[in-house]
Amino acid sequence: MSRYRLSPTPAQEAALAEHCGHARYVWNLAVEQHSHWRPGRKSAPGFAEQCRQLTEARAEFAWLRSGSIVVQQQALKDFTQAMANFFGETHKRPTWRRRGQGEGFRIVAVKAGDVRRLSRNVGEIRVPKVGRVRFRWSRAIPEGVKSYRVTRDSAGRWFVAFAAIPESLPTPGTGVVVGVDRGVAVSVALSNGEMTSAPTLRETEKARLLRLVRKLARARKGSRRRGEVKAAIARLRARETDRRKDWVEKTSTGLARRFDVIGVEDLKVKNMTRSAKGTVETPGRNVRQKAGLNRGILAAGWGRLVERLEHKAPGRVVKVNPRFTSQTCNACAHIAKENRESQADFLCVACGHQANADVNAARNIRDIAAGHAVNARGGDRVAGPVKREPQHDLLLVG
Ligand SMILES: [Zn+2]
Repeated sequence: MSRYRLSPTPAQEAALAEHCGHARYVWNLAVEQHSHWRPGRKSAPGFAEQCRQLTEARAEFAWLRSGSIVVQQQALKDFTQAMANFFGETHKRPTWRRRGQGEGFRIVAVKAGDVRRLSRNVGEIRVPKVGRVRFRWSRAIPEGVKSYRVTRDSAGRWFVAFAAIPESLPTPGTGVVVGVDRGVAVSVALSNGEMTSAPTLRETEKARLLRLVRKLARARKGSRRRGEVKAAIARLRARETDRRKDWVEKTSTGLARRFDVIGVEDLKVKNMTRSAKGTVETPGRNVRQKAGLNRGILAAGWGRLVERLEHKAPGRVVKVNPRFTSQTCNACAHIAKENRESQADFLCVACGHQANADVNAARNIRDIAAGHAVNARGGDRVAGPVKREPQHDLLLVG
């Protein structure tokens, strides 16, 4: 996702705001419907049923009918995705949207002529029922844009973000398998011992954010100063989001280029076995707080990383059941809760093998993924955490 600054005319701005209003209305309707649902009742309406209801609502209400059906349907689609994320435990439950908060809408089925360049720094995008809106052509537009999202930040600035599925990258062809573990202390640990963290704000920026938050608490409601402080906070947060997105792109590209097979934890399975890293399998100290603070952001980043990997390395990403990967010794395959000394350290109670806990888990993921990869090629190795000689690997592994 790359974001570009939109510069709508006042009339266009009003029309964009109307789209936002429709998207918000439809979203809130969906939230409302799902809030009545309780376990044991007939399931809440899914996307198809909601679309049918939307058609009915449009027939009844002229103001809704006057809006774009694409905008309204996509709001339902966003909601469906938000519910899936909620059930997948990567996001909080979708909530009611207020005016001025996270405003935006999505347009799909974008055609080639819908985005064009007018001059070096100016582009133009066709928005249904709004017309051609100009934007700052601040960097190259990804090829094959199929959809875009228009958003308005709390500072009142409009943006457009284009979504394009990244091209698949060539396989290095070395046969190297890598395991990737979502770490607690770091964002990602690889089976070859590499560890990287998604960037956050710099210390000076964090300090500034803290000052701004305090300022906001003191600022009078509705005052101009309050608006300015809010906008400054939004800009800092956006900077962090941009950095994380950039990190996801770089990390996924690096993995797809360097390794033939990439083993990752299957989030869906993961969520059945543990709610946050280590909380069920190995309830370590500080896990709760840490998970509480970072979980949403990290989980969202992780989901995006896996998604991008699947685009960039199609057919080369193996999702493995993460059960026991953090308590299995990679040297002797002994499984014990006690193996994990702390969040950071792994010490096998059977053989004394010592390792960084996340790297040990990444190695287990790598070995399971390698097993799957052998099977896929007609090998006879049984997939799963198998007992094997210490440090003996079937494939050349990273
Ligand atoms: Zn061991």
